[in-house]
Order: sequence, then C-alpha cells, then structure tokens
Amino acid sequence: MLLHEIEELRKIRREWKGLKVGLVPTMGALHQGHLSLIKKAKESCDKVVVSVFVNPIQFGPSEDYNQYPRTLDKDYELCTQAGVDIVFAPSPEVMYGKGQRLSNDNLTYVCPPFFYVNKLCGKSRTGHFDGVCTVVLKLFNIVQPDFGFFGQKDAQQAVIIKKMVRDLNVPVEIVECPIVREESGLALSSRNKYLSDEGREDALVLSKILKNIKACYRKGITDIGVLKETAYGFLTDKHDLEYLEIFDKDTLEEKEKADDNSRVFIACRVEGVRLIDNICLGGE
Ligand code: AMP
Repeated sequence: MLLHEIEELRKIRREWKGLKVGLVPTMGALHQGHLSLIKKAKESCDKVVVSVFVNPIQFGPSEDYNQYPRTLDKDYELCTQAGVDIVFAPSPEVMYGKGQRLSNDNLTYVCPPFFYVNKLCGKSRTGHFDGVCTVVLKLFNIVQPDFGFFGQKDAQQAVIIKKMVRDLNVPVEIVECPIVREESGLALSSRNKYLSDEGREDALVLSKILKNIKACYRKGITDIGVLKETAYGFLTDKHDLEYLEIFDKDTLEEKEKADDNSRVFIACRVEGVRLIDNICLGGE
C-alpha cells in the first residue's frame, strides 16, 4: 500500500495494535542495500513500513537536494515484491507543514551532541545530522515502530541515531545492518547513479583503501598514523579525499591504537560525487 498522508498511516497503525512493526527509513532510489534492510525487517517483524522521503532539512544549500534521484514508482514496485506492508512517501509539506520556513528558528529540531557531529560527515555537512535526527524522530512518532533498521553504510548516522534514542528515551530498538557491496567492492549507494563508467572504476579506491588498512591491521600494524598513510598510494588526481579517520565504532572517539572495535571511515569525491564507505577492523 502506498500512503502519502500521516492520518492514513496512523489509522492503519492503530489496527496493528499488538503486532511487531519495523520501519526502514530511506530517501528512495532503492537498491539492494535498502532491500537488505527490508529483508531483515521482514524476518523479525509482523509488519514493515518503508518510508521514502528526500528530507530537505538534511541537505546543505549547495548539496544535491534537487538532483537527488526520485524513482517512487520503481521503489514501490520493489517494496511490493519484497513484501513491504506500507510505503510511506509524504511530501515536504506533509512532513513540515505548508508554507513553513525550513529552519531551526521556525521549527523544532533535534540537535545531536557536538562531539558526535563535529567529525567525519558532520564536519563538512553543517546541520546534516540535526536534519537526519529530526526527520527520523518524526518518522518514529508517526509510524511508532518497535524496530528501526539502519545501514552501517552510514555508520556515523547509526551511532548518532542510537545516541538520540538513548538520550530521548525513544521506545524503538535500532537494528544495524551490514554494508551491501557490488562484487567489485563498491558500496551500493543511490549516489552511484551520478558516476560515469570511468568514475565507478575510480570509486573502487574507497573500498580498496579500507580493505588494505584492514589487511595491514591484521598483519599487526595498530599505529593509526601508519595505517592511514597506507591510503596515499591508492589516491590519484581523480580522487578528492575529504577524510580518512579511524575511530571507536560505538563512541566515535579517537584512540591511541587501532583495535577490533575500531572503524575506518572514508569520504572521497569522484567526478564531484561525494562517496562514503567504512569498515570495522574486528570481525570478518
Ligand atoms: P538512504 O536512502 O541513502 O538515506 O539510505 C537509507 C538506509 O539504507 C540507511 O540506513 C542507509 O545506511 C542504508 N543503506 C544505504 N546503502 C546501503 C548499503 N550499501 N548497504 C547497507 N545499507 C545501506
């Protein structure tokens, strides 16, 4: 079922009393990464809602809000095939009110702690995580799910959402799902659509750098500076590296030495497209 209005969704949600409900928040242009979250939700919930909403307040003024791919018909088809119960695709007016100025001097925003946002993606994307937390909390309040499913592709986002849920006593359990990659290693992303064939090749550098750092760690290198330096051999003038950091995967704290709880985070522009990826040094 495709719904655009909050009241329609609330009505059905009331009929689901006593059932386990899962929410998969997305911005659409669905791919296998999103579908892996939906699959996980289907496995553990009685009812699954997928939201498709390109959230204007998480985009900066010079970012790709207007160009972001919008493929609702295809998304709905994929969701139906995957057994999703409701696709909730509200307009910005439905979410934020008609004629509202979308800024935090006019609307109530959720403001995650500076320590978590003043690094990695939050550093260059001012206000991004305020926008993300605000829309996710609104979606939680609208759908009232028992579980919220998020991808480790956006690992900083998952940490921040979990922090928000803890700090604000939101009664939703957050389930993190592993990154889905192409066979080449490229992490699936809706933004990969912006890349040319050559760009896709150049984009492989992100996963190659991460894999190589993990291999070096496995060989016994734990010095963060040394691990980071191994990246430079992979970068060419096709790559505009924004950050490469190694932080604790749960707290995003910097550590003296890398360990199994460390996550390597990378953001790099290829053909002007901002791509992100990460890998945990522990485990598989
Ligand atoms: P987006 O539509 O980009 O906002 O993503 C919606 C959700 O799908 C987020 O929780 C993402 O982390 C997750 N996601 C996006 N790409 C992938 C991927 N390649 N593997 C796993 N999860 C992903």
